[in-house]
Amino acid sequence: MAKKKAKKASGPAKKGKSIKYVYSFGGGKADGNESMKNLLGGKGANLAEMAGHKDLRLPVPPGFTITTEVCIDYLAAKRTYPKQLKVQVDTALATVEKLMGKKFGDASNPLLVSVRSGARKSMPGMMDTVLNVGLNDVTIKGLIEKTKNERFAWDSYRRLIMMYSDVVMEKAEGIEPKNGKGIRKTLDERLGEVKKQKGYKLDTDLTVADLKQLVADFKAKVREVLGKPFPENPQDQLWGGIGAVFMSWNGKRAIDYRRIEKIPDEWGTAVNVQSMVFGNMGDDSATGVAFTRNPGNGDPRFYGEYLVNAQGEDVVAGIRTPAPINEASKNDQSRDLPALEKTMPKCYNQLFDIQKRLEKHYKDMQDIEFTIEQGTLYMLQCRIGKRNGTAAVKIAMDMFREKLIDSDTALSRVAPMQLVELLLPMVDPKAEAATKAIGKGLPAGPGAAKGRAVFTSEDAAAWASRGEKVILVREETSPEDVDGMHKAQAILTSKGGMTSHAALVARGWGKCCVVGCEGLEVEAKEFKTKSGEVVHEGDWITVNGTKGLVYRGELNLVNPDLEHNATYVELISLCNKTRKINIRTNADTPKDTAQAVKFGAEGIGLFRTEHMFYGEGSDKPLFLLRKMIMSKTPQERRNALSELEPFVKRDIKATMEVLNGLPVTIRLLDPPLHEFVPHSEDKLAALAQELGINLAEVKKRGDSLKENNPMLGHRGVRLGVTYPEVSEMQIRAILEAAGELIKEGKKAYPEIMIPVTGTVNEIIDQKKIVDKIYAEVCKSLGLSKIPYLYGTMIEIPRAALTANKMAEVAEFFSFGTNDLTQMGFGFSRDDIGSFLPDYLEKKILKDDPFQTIDQEGIGELIRFGIDRGRSTRAKLKIGICGEHGGDPDSVKFCHRVGMNYVSCSPFRIPIAILAAAQAVIEDKRAKKK
Ligand code: ADP
Ligand code: MG
Ligand code: MG
Repeated sequence: MAKKKAKKASGPAKKGKSIKYVYSFGGGKADGNESMKNLLGGKGANLAEMAGHKDLRLPVPPGFTITTEVCIDYLAAKRTYPKQLKVQVDTALATVEKLMGKKFGDASNPLLVSVRSGARKSMPGMMDTVLNVGLNDVTIKGLIEKTKNERFAWDSYRRLIMMYSDVVMEKAEGIEPKNGKGIRKTLDERLGEVKKQKGYKLDTDLTVADLKQLVADFKAKVREVLGKPFPENPQDQLWGGIGAVFMSWNGKRAIDYRRIEKIPDEWGTAVNVQSMVFGNMGDDSATGVAFTRNPGNGDPRFYGEYLVNAQGEDVVAGIRTPAPINEASKNDQSRDLPALEKTMPKCYNQLFDIQKRLEKHYKDMQDIEFTIEQGTLYMLQCRIGKRNGTAAVKIAMDMFREKLIDSDTALSRVAPMQLVELLLPMVDPKAEAATKAIGKGLPAGPGAAKGRAVFTSEDAAAWASRGEKVILVREETSPEDVDGMHKAQAILTSKGGMTSHAALVARGWGKCCVVGCEGLEVEAKEFKTKSGEVVHEGDWITVNGTKGLVYRGELNLVNPDLEHNATYVELISLCNKTRKINIRTNADTPKDTAQAVKFGAEGIGLFRTEHMFYGEGSDKPLFLLRKMIMSKTPQERRNALSELEPFVKRDIKATMEVLNGLPVTIRLLDPPLHEFVPHSEDKLAALAQELGINLAEVKKRGDSLKENNPMLGHRGVRLGVTYPEVSEMQIRAILEAAGELIKEGKKAYPEIMIPVTGTVNEIIDQKKIVDKIYAEVCKSLGLSKIPYLYGTMIEIPRAALTANKMAEVAEFFSFGTNDLTQMGFGFSRDDIGSFLPDYLEKKILKDDPFQTIDQEGIGELIRFGIDRGRSTRAKLKIGICGEHGGDPDSVKFCHRVGMNYVSCSPFRIPIAILAAAQAVIEDKRAKKK
């Protein structure tokens, strides 16, 4: 403890002897500003900026922020506060009272406050907020007297009891509600009962008498269920609220969200205490959420939703259908509802002006919360708006064209993985035209998905863990559902608008999502459509998140047409101007190659010859390969090989033709031969007949190829050493394919790559074969030369360690990071499932090293290999193949260590291109610092 204090005292927050724990804002001033997110959280820092920055000074209700440091201390010190805090809070509260002309806890003129959480990075809906703090049986009288609005006062009171009992008395206390039904739900059901009894449709139909009764009922229920009364003392309420926000940092849903988003546990949350403004004071009051541009598609027009006579979270909770703020915000659900620009034009114009200023000030799309109290507009929050991939690209490129940001900033604004969304499958329009949708809602997350309907987050997670594709169907989602939402292919809700929880979360993840699906009735294990059709748990459904449509069954999904997306094309060309590293693809067929070249691939980094023995059209070559494998004598093998060669040549030639002179790295046969031995009797019998031996003999030969540890066995170059004729055939096929193309007046540039090497002598051994065949092919084709390179994979640690020797013979290296990781860690890639989850859970490893390069360990092998390699061959061409080539962090790493290219699967190419450009930009920024 003493140690901690000593450290703190030297920190920047030091002021004389006391530490500043509380930062005030309001009345045109603020202690903090936007740059202090780490200390004040995102919400607090932006409230300060909006309230106090000289270019803004917006109408922000006054309040104060308690720092994130207090949160960390509070949680570490078993829920006790630093000594100085109480005084600082009292002082800040007094300032707010003065600005508002009200007093907290006062019987005749009470100040009410909200207690709001706010972490460094926004975690929408993850943390809890309590509104109307300070109301009790005494202060409500003063509130009624002052406002002359009894209904509003009782509405606020019942809301306080509901939120407070849920957030402070239950969740923060870690109380697990019995049979899963929390206090909020219990109280909500009570509210529903009253509405039903009285025949009301909306919350706003409740009368003063109803609300009074509800307050009494709520209090009794709270006492009954939680065994404690709702606290009447305003100070108890305030401190209860503050503690609860801090505690919610360690709540289950906050932790789940942090895991997914990789937010460190050490950040903590700030608490914002802010004087209340009321959107629930009648028809001249409202509350809403808006974005300076459309977060769903990037449309550069002000976009948002609002509710008349409502309080904050009503919009997000999806209790009523929110109305559009303007024409541009109308959707199928809200088309006929009155727009804010019509109902409250003065406030709308003011809001419009403010959002323009905010976007110009922050130079990015803003997500804003506002409330209108009896015709007066207040700003309650602004932050950088989450957006889906399509919107991210559009907004970045638009702002670049508008000269609001420069090209480096534009490129940094799109997360490489967001491009996945643009590559997302769509429902096949033909299939769609032939089917009738069973539901229509709002297009909250684009793309398409199909899966089996499940109805709880737990089921979604459980089914997904069995490898099932599921779609999570809910009435509405809440932060408790985050885990299941993450594991589902898509999310479908019957309630809620474009700013509902489901929509917000889906947008953040780029997940296919339809919300507010009209007329859908969601039950425990089924849902009923508007027309009365029933879809049961486990039934397949297809969701079109781009249009907001739901279909029964499995519809065909197709890929989008990116070439005609001008904004995307412009983004990629900007990346191409910026990046230094080349991008190649891993492809083994002309079709994949063509796709990859369309996406911008500059060659093939990995063409696996064994590919032609799998899948479509592989019957004949596979049979010949098997014949070769089962051969006993070199002569038998040669015969089989010469039959096989035309197939190998045909595939390579077709692919090189598509590449039109772009380089293609062709890897010689890599897998252990036993992988190709057939299992079925009839296949074995056919082989026996072909080879003129009996079945037992074939089986014997097959069995003799079995190995105890095939991944470390007779594979890669070892095959070529044992059976030189196998290498010969492949090398001949490659060089003949290239030579023939050249003779046809076309271009070809093969790079012959030897896999699984660990010593230079292996490379020398195979080089002799290459030299011999090269001479033969040139001669037979009458060519003086065929351009090619000769190189090796670097995937065995010893190869990296002796890279200087390897590079004396090899003209290029391709880091096979899958195997390098496997052998570097000693982790069998096929068996990690049984222990890697524990490693990640216990944080023994930060990431799965097979997904993103382990820069600290395997990365060192790579660095070392590159340095050593280039020490003997300065112009050594170096690249990477393997899954990591499409992982943004790994691409950036490859750029930093000086590789010439990365290679990844065709659909990862746009991601790699953007990551490569960002690597250059990050370099530049690091140098500036
Ligand atoms: P979240 O981080 O989940 O968005 P907030 O702290 O923003 O939570 O609060 C939830 C809702 O309560 C917001 O929509 C906001 O508009 C409303 N709210 C918060 N503080 C106040 C206040 N002082 N006056 C009126 N409404 C408020
Ligand atoms: Mg908010
Ligand atoms: Mg390998």
